[in-house]
Amino acid sequence: MGESKGQLPRGIRVDRIGEHVHLAHTPHVNWLLYAGPDGVTLVDSGYLGQRDLLVASLDAVGCRPDDVDAVLVTHAHADHLGGAAWLADTFGTPVHADAAELPNLHRDVLEQVGPGDVVGNAWRPGVLSWALAITPLLRGRADLGIERATVLPELDEVVDVPGRPRVLRVAGHTSGHVAFDFADAGVLAAGDALVTRHRTSPKAGPQLLPTMFQFDTDWARESLELLRASESRTLVPGHGEPWVGPASAAVDAALAAGAAW
Ligand SMILES: [Zn+2]
Repeated sequence: MGESKGQLPRGIRVDRIGEHVHLAHTPHVNWLLYAGPDGVTLVDSGYLGQRDLLVASLDAVGCRPDDVDAVLVTHAHADHLGGAAWLADTFGTPVHADAAELPNLHRDVLEQVGPGDVVGNAWRPGVLSWALAITPLLRGRADLGIERATVLPELDEVVDVPGRPRVLRVAGHTSGHVAFDFADAGVLAAGDALVTRHRTSPKAGPQLLPTMFQFDTDWARESLELLRASESRTLVPGHGEPWVGPASAAVDAALAAGAAW
């Protein structure tokens, strides 16, 4: 690890949000970088077509791609998995996921929005522009999977990777969706269990993603309660700006807002 080499390219921001923790924010999806004395952990990793941005975000925190000790995936959707697949292929970087997410990770099932959902909802504001914007980022690999993954410990246990986050099982967006609580840094990576902005939603602030993106919206809503266990004061969503304040307040706001459609 060393110092950052240069300026970030357009289309990404890297913000320090806690001790050893940075958020990489792009208009399409976020990921989190932990780079501390015990090593480097990524939570989620962007689209396959955002690889240059992933590398730039690592550079911004003084790391190279082969410094990454572990990638934790909140869930196995294409916008969170692309960089993980590349790191695993290129450097053999271990990818960690919940046992219940493995069928998605291996692409035995695909609990992910498909072309039919997009066509059926194309009349809604933001859906077509979202689909057009993300299509090139998929690099033709909407069904991208990962062969081998390390299975996360059971509910409420700490993951033995740099940063030692605790797992919170907030399923519903997919069957094995989890959040990662970096309690020492006060940062909760919520993935798509709770977002604060999405191109397909007219709402701003904590909310559920539109139902088109959910495997089971009712399940996702119920699971939100589990985020209240976190005492972290910064919640990082998979999409949108971080929420600063108690996780419980973010949950209250998301339950009140629900899904836009
Ligand atoms: Zn997402």
